[in-house]
Amino acid sequence: MKIKETIFSKIIKHEIKADIIYQDKLVTAFHNINPKAKYHILIVTNKIIPTVNCVTNSDELMLGRLFTVAAKISKELGISKNGYRLIVNCNADAGQEIFHIHMHLLGGNLLKDI
Ligand code: 5GP
Repeated sequence: MKIKETIFSKIIKHEIKADIIYQDKLVTAFHNINPKAKYHILIVTNKIIPTVNCVTNSDELMLGRLFTVAAKISKELGISKNGYRLIVNCNADAGQEIFHIHMHLLGGNLLKDI
């Protein structure tokens, strides 16, 4: 099956502009264009995986990296002590818009229901 390019895969390849704050071989993190909190970072797998339903055991290292990078960024932003929220949406009922696995990191203010 041919995997379709996404807005995020173009950001990862620097073909579309984004405020990238972290990138390594496995993941890329950048500010959300439409933030729902003071800080709203998207941490995206460099490999295009459309949804959580498609993950396999061989993706575990890369998916774990989403958490280690979330922890690193939250410390850098100074929000790790007060707290933050991590969200991964899957398919329509969760409101997934971009079919390329990503983790939302939200923080910097008190988070109500989003
Ligand atoms: P989802 O609903 O798929 O979990 O979240 C997709 C997120 O990507 C949304 O919060 C949306 O604001 C963000 N987004 C969509 N297009 C762009 C873009 O071109 N640049 C950036 N930085 N964020 C985007």
